[in-house]
Amino acid sequence: MTDPEKMVYSPSRIKLFASCPAAFKRHYIDGEVGVTCAPFFYGSLVHAIAHTYNRQCVLKRVPADPGAMPEIVNAHFWSTDQTGIPADEYQSVLDLCVRLAARQVIDYETFAGAEDRMHMRVNGYGFQGIVDIHWIDGPFAVVRDYKTQRNMLTPAELVNDFKMRCYAALEFASFPHLEGVWVEHDYLRWGAVRRSERMLTKEDADRTKEEIWQRIERIIGELEYPYTPGDWCAVCEYKRDCPRLAEAEKCGPFPDPITTADQARAVLDELVALGLATTDRKTALKAWVNGYGAVRGNGYEFGPRESRGVEYDVARVMAAFPEAAEALAALRVDKRGLAALAKADDELAKRLEEIAVETVTTRTDLHKIKGENDE
Ligand code: SF4
Repeated sequence: MTDPEKMVYSPSRIKLFASCPAAFKRHYIDGEVGVTCAPFFYGSLVHAIAHTYNRQCVLKRVPADPGAMPEIVNAHFWSTDQTGIPADEYQSVLDLCVRLAARQVIDYETFAGAEDRMHMRVNGYGFQGIVDIHWIDGPFAVVRDYKTQRNMLTPAELVNDFKMRCYAALEFASFPHLEGVWVEHDYLRWGAVRRSERMLTKEDADRTKEEIWQRIERIIGELEYPYTPGDWCAVCEYKRDCPRLAEAEKCGPFPDPITTADQARAVLDELVALGLATTDRKTALKAWVNGYGAVRGNGYEFGPRESRGVEYDVARVMAAFPEAAEALAALRVDKRGLAALAKADDELAKRLEEIAVETVTTRTDLHKIKGENDE
């Protein structure tokens, strides 16, 4: 048993508690080893390969060494501790790692380290994170995290990503001269690096430390550690013997958390059926609304919405403004293009006033009723 007050925390520990306190307790307090899921095996294998490759580049003092990658993949993939990955994944792992080696360049002027375990104290609590690779150029740092997930965050989402904010805070704690930290995700499956929309600052780091502290306090104050089914169940190491999940599955064939490939397939079938049914129901509702008017309920309305605008007959515009005719013809401006130009330019709209023809269109769809149930 580990005492939560004495535990060294990390972004993953804190995130696991937020997903499911029971899974956190079983893993980090009780020390119970569950069954690691395929996505984690895949992620840790690729991280281990990248780590070996980076270490080799550093030892050889070369910016890249793509020729060395296949051998490293070979050695890691067939090692006995990677039995969680089926053999037919070999080619996918090899391709992904070869692509990484082909595009990553280590600049030794700024290279600060790879697979670095960084520490800080947060109001008396120990906190650490392992940074995949980072660079420091004067007062600025770049922290990059390798990702094997399939969905990509936007640059704006990266600024708010808890794990990356923690890494930035760890950089500021380890290198107090820093003024800013860029955070990046390297999406290995896509061969693409995404950088945060802006640099994280010391103020961001202070706010993150405050948040870490509050989250740790919540963990320490927790008495029940409830099972909380949700997104994490899909990859949870305890899903095979989770009592709460067994209960949820008794409720029907489509439990909220998806934990098996059969369930994923069943939910896809359900979505397809719902999608087709939704199209039919919308068509029927449109027919009703067409005759009887909009239907309202629960703060929403399904009905026609009016949209007014103006359009211009291009031939008439050319006749009225012969000096612009040639340019309009060359640019193939149509009535929509003219309307867009006039919308963006008040002066032009005024000059075209005489030629403008008012248009009215309607679109029947579901929309929120303004002012109702607004937060
Ligand atoms: S399977 Fe879901 S509910 Fe059960 S321990 Fe894991 S995350 Fe929690």
